[in-house]
Amino acid sequence: MTVSETIYEEITKLYPDAKCELNYRKDYELLIAVMLSAQTTDQSVNSVTETLFNKYKSIKDFANVSIDELENDIRRIGLFRNKSKNIKSMSEIVVNQFNGIIPNTQESLQDLPGVGRKTANVYLAEFHHIPRIAVDTHVSRVSIRLGFADEGDSPENIEKKLMNIYDENIWIDLHHKMIFFGRYFCKAKKPNCINCPILKYCKKPVLK
Ligand code: SF4
Repeated sequence: MTVSETIYEEITKLYPDAKCELNYRKDYELLIAVMLSAQTTDQSVNSVTETLFNKYKSIKDFANVSIDELENDIRRIGLFRNKSKNIKSMSEIVVNQFNGIIPNTQESLQDLPGVGRKTANVYLAEFHHIPRIAVDTHVSRVSIRLGFADEGDSPENIEKKLMNIYDENIWIDLHHKMIFFGRYFCKAKKPNCINCPILKYCKKPVLK
């Protein structure tokens, strides 16, 4: 077994059920939840969307709302002003140009306001099961610590490096497991190195 395979196996043992933690029922709800999650925890997003998605029953509702009202509805979330503007503009475009259905190509998604590569990747992997590795802060940090990527690599570079190392059929699963491993075990501050099952492969353990 290769080192990368062993690492995948070990983090799978730690988090066998890792999955997307954002709550959603429809395509636009997922995209909006992902847009809201920038620099915010999934738990905070879920606590806001629980009432938000009951109030706004279709993407048209998001397209038609005033910015002031939407801001007020999501103000508990960081960057709410910018996120409100992007969610409303995105919804208007999807209603007017895509018949109310979130597009399912990387290019069309990334043309939407507030949708970058990571958000598009999360959406495509989660809603359409299209193989993608979305590189967020956790995937990025874990990749660098494990030597899959280098300090200073862009998220897109890290994504390419991981896609070269791992087989396409595990990309979505790997992405979830790396997020859980980074979020709960290999934390930015005080990673649990002393108990880490992949310590011997780590390039940057914190052992004090
Ligand atoms: S040894 Fe520490 S820094 Fe390295 S992967 Fe494990 S928890 Fe993360």
